Amino acid sequence: MDGKQILNQMAPYKQGKQMDDVKREFGLTRIVKLASNENPFGHSQKLRDELPEMLGQFERYPDGHAATLRKKLAARLHVEENQLVFGSGSDELVQIICRTFLYPNAKTVMATPTFPQYSHHALIEGANVKEIPTKDGYHDLESMLDAIDANTKVVWLCSPNNPTGSIIPEDAFYSFMEHCPKDVLVVLDEAYYEYIDDERKPTILENISSYPNLLVLRTFSKAYGLAGLRVGYGIGNEDLIAKLDIVRGPFNTSILAQKAAAIALDDQQFIEETYRMNRQIRTDFERALDKLGWSYDDSQTNFLLVHVPVSGEEMFTYLLKHGYIVRPCDGIGCPNTVRITIGKKQDMEELQTILTAFSQQGD
Ligand SMILES: *Cc1c(COP(=O)(O)O)cnc(C)c1O
Repeated sequence: MDGKQILNQMAPYKQGKQMDDVKREFGLTRIVKLASNENPFGHSQKLRDELPEMLGQFERYPDGHAATLRKKLAARLHVEENQLVFGSGSDELVQIICRTFLYPNAKTVMATPTFPQYSHHALIEGANVKEIPTKDGYHDLESMLDAIDANTKVVWLCSPNNPTGSIIPEDAFYSFMEHCPKDVLVVLDEAYYEYIDDERKPTILENISSYPNLLVLRTFSKAYGLAGLRVGYGIGNEDLIAKLDIVRGPFNTSILAQKAAAIALDDQQFIEETYRMNRQIRTDFERALDKLGWSYDDSQTNFLLVHVPVSGEEMFTYLLKHGYIVRPCDGIGCPNTVRITIGKKQDMEELQTILTAFSQQGD
């Protein structure tokens, strides 16, 4: 069986270690997973009260339009209901965008390192992927603009960027939009939007109607803590959304996911507490890294890309033996780095102790 040619050079997504496997392999009883940027504080407690009543409704197809969630979200974001598209995680929206706008030999521009699913789906559509190295973790927007040519259909901006954590400053973003040709779709992936410091939170959504070629992606997977249920969304011009809706599967978000997202959206107190605790714990962890003399990229997220004195793989294995799962990033063009999700206070303090012991090994 021959698939698309490009598939011979690609591999399925390699997910982080599963906790049970690690426990068995190293004889550990407790594992702390800091590898997928999940919310260590869980999700809104309000789900406990309202979700059980959904039992008995699962034989029906969901409302593919997600009307209830759509209405709530549109009101919250101050956009029109027809400016929203939902996906089974923003991952699926990345796939839908690529399927809608990319085709063999169309060009797409993105940073490197960045979220790998952009290039993954672009390659499957046969597109040419142009990757522009980040500078100290930040997107090099000037070089990205230079890379845009007549064949370019989609440009990906990830802010804050995964895995570096750095945001695109708002004025730099607006300047980029000024110079970017209007027939090129700009995807602004804000998966970590809720974690951005209040004083630096971009207000781009307020101007979304002025940019018909802009699609903003957000998700319920990260700060909202609903990664297991799979809901993400895109915000953009209604014509753009209508096009994506042709490609979107009719029942792509489940009845349970829609309901949970709607409940979680109402609990903004949980989001505020998550933001506050993350910021405090991240700052404390940064001070600990400073003491070790280890650098890290500027982060406006719930993770840090930490530059370590050994390969990322070696640090990964060392931490694994101590019950901590992190993400080595050597393989995505960041030698000697690991990406560490900011966990609970106590876990991060224990991690500091383990890292300090590592740094003293050679002394
Ligand atoms: C986690 C993540 C996503 C995907 O999240 P979903 O769970 O698919 O909604 C998208 N973009 C970035 C940058 C991410 O880190």
